Amino acid sequence: MHQDFALFATFTMALVTAFIGGYIARRLGLPTMVGYLVAGMAIGPFTPGFVGDTDAANQLAEMGVIFMLFGVGLHFSLKDLWNVRAVAVPGAVLQTLTATLIGFLLTQSWGWTVNASLVLGLAISVASTVVLLRGLEDNGLLNTMHGKVAVGWLVFEDIATVAILVLLPALRGGGENPLEGVALAILKTVLFAAIMLFAGTRFLSWLLKRIARTRSRELFILAVVTLALGTAFGAAELFGVSLALGAFLAGVVVGESEVHHQVGAEILPFREVFAVIFFVSVGMLVNPAEIVANFGQVLALTALIIVGKGVITILLGFVLPARTRTMVVVTVGLAQIGEFSFIVGQTGVSLDLLTQQQYGLILAGAVLSIVINPLLYSLRPTIERALLSIPTVARRNERRVSVPNLVQQGISDHVVIVGYGRVGAYVGNMLRLLNLPELVIERDVDRAEAFQQDGMSILFGNAADSEILVHAHLERARALVVTVPDEITTELVVIAARDLAPRLPIIVRAATIEGIERLAKHGANYIIHPELEGGLEMVRHTLLVLGFPTLQIQQYMDEVRADAYDIDHLTLAEQRVLDQLLRTVRGMEIAWRTITPGSPLIGQTLAEANLRAKVGASVIALVRDGHVMANPKSGTVFNEGDIVGLIGDDQELQAATRFLDPATS
Ligand code: AMP
Repeated sequence: MHQDFALFATFTMALVTAFIGGYIARRLGLPTMVGYLVAGMAIGPFTPGFVGDTDAANQLAEMGVIFMLFGVGLHFSLKDLWNVRAVAVPGAVLQTLTATLIGFLLTQSWGWTVNASLVLGLAISVASTVVLLRGLEDNGLLNTMHGKVAVGWLVFEDIATVAILVLLPALRGGGENPLEGVALAILKTVLFAAIMLFAGTRFLSWLLKRIARTRSRELFILAVVTLALGTAFGAAELFGVSLALGAFLAGVVVGESEVHHQVGAEILPFREVFAVIFFVSVGMLVNPAEIVANFGQVLALTALIIVGKGVITILLGFVLPARTRTMVVVTVGLAQIGEFSFIVGQTGVSLDLLTQQQYGLILAGAVLSIVINPLLYSLRPTIERALLSIPTVARRNERRVSVPNLVQQGISDHVVIVGYGRVGAYVGNMLRLLNLPELVIERDVDRAEAFQQDGMSILFGNAADSEILVHAHLERARALVVTVPDEITTELVVIAARDLAPRLPIIVRAATIEGIERLAKHGANYIIHPELEGGLEMVRHTLLVLGFPTLQIQQYMDEVRADAYDIDHLTLAEQRVLDQLLRTVRGMEIAWRTITPGSPLIGQTLAEANLRAKVGASVIALVRDGHVMANPKSGTVFNEGDIVGLIGDDQELQAATRFLDPATS
């Protein structure tokens, strides 16, 4: 292969093989990540066939790390980071220390040098952000409180790696005072963070808004990519901060700006492509023959990364102020190693602290732990149940949920609102204005806590869990309003609620048009599809702006609604009202006809023209000089250019058209 093509060839082959590997993995029911890793091995130097440029792949992988972390930063507000500090900071420190210690002890038992053992211990103590983010995202955990703790924890571990990398040269002995180096590194990190957070927040948000105003999508994308890569690069070059941390902070800063949604959307394709390259590049470093030759050690190290670190995290759960579920998510999410471990390992090799073969073990452990990681997510409920069966854990867990699930004794005639987000809040506000009692069921602990402080009656928990509905006293309620966006939850709530209170009026939010029918069958009385309603309202305004008459618009909207909401399932009384409405309007068209020059109507009054008697259609409106006259008087004289609003059936309207303008017939 021509040398000039090395980067291009590696990039292309990495994507091609990753695509094939990912597809096969998906068909086999395995995580796509596994496919990417195997693809990497296939184009790596240790397997026959095409050999990619490992160096080039590593650099491309760095871009994956940068885009991934920039993306996370975007969704991670400073408040989030601050909120998770009580768990994340001590957690990250304690886990790094204990994981290093057990890694050290294990490899000491294999007769490694003290330095090599230390490097390995440090390397395995830091998990991979890319793998964590993928896992959290695939399992819908990224934006939950648990996911935020896990990401915050890793951000602090990342900061710890900055210190570790500075400390490593000191292990070789000689040189300057290591503590001074660490202090300087930390100072630089703090300085970088301060500049980003204070100056960056204002400047970058101003800059992005300006660029957005140029309306050039190309420039905007360019700005976003430049920002992510540029900040990471600048952070590394000028402040010695890791690329990952630099990108994360850039993301956090941009996340505070008003255009952050657009930034997120534009960065997504870059993130996906380069994250795939990241996994391929890891695979490329692995020598399958070496894994086989040292299988026992590889297995022990992998067990240490998964089980050892897992047990440490679980034990930390006993001392940290976190809920059991959060700790289980952190445990599963961090039971792997990746890019940071490679950096620590590589630095160790370049400093002669670690041999190439020992570094190979770290790589093998990383690959195995990454492959196994997605499977661990499915074990979450089992681990959580097992932990909660320990009485002390269960008691501690309950204490940490500070929202007491106490509903006012004897609450009655209340309206139960399930989900208090964008939709539920409208209902709640209205009820409060009317001074009607409400009871909210909300599963987001932060929201529940905040509402409770506002003095609202809140049941904290998942409404799909029928136990919680029992506490809502549906049998004494006046109505149930289910506002959650997830249709499966809504269905479960409706089924359970119908069982508990057969006559309770139930108003629900549907997520799909198909869901409307199912919800009706389960017993929901009023079903609202927010997108349909929003769309119809936009149609109404558009038609009004275009000058169509209200009646015609209403007719159209009624028809769309009747179609979507499948009137078969409406109650009899409602159906009768709807039928009546349709009968009065359906079959009659309201048509607008212009009085053209030469029309016999010109100069006649409405009474003289007597259209109703002659053709059957009635004049219900007249538009003259842009003004609408509804129900024009019988003495009104028709002028040329008037627009006449007629109502009647097809035949009558056709006759009227001919009568108005004989030239057309
Ligand atoms: P929105 O889509 O903004 O109206 O928000 C929906 C609200 O419903 C959020 O506050 C969610 O936390 C809440 N929610 C979603 N699923 C459930 C559930 N199963 N039980 C209780 N609350 C829920």
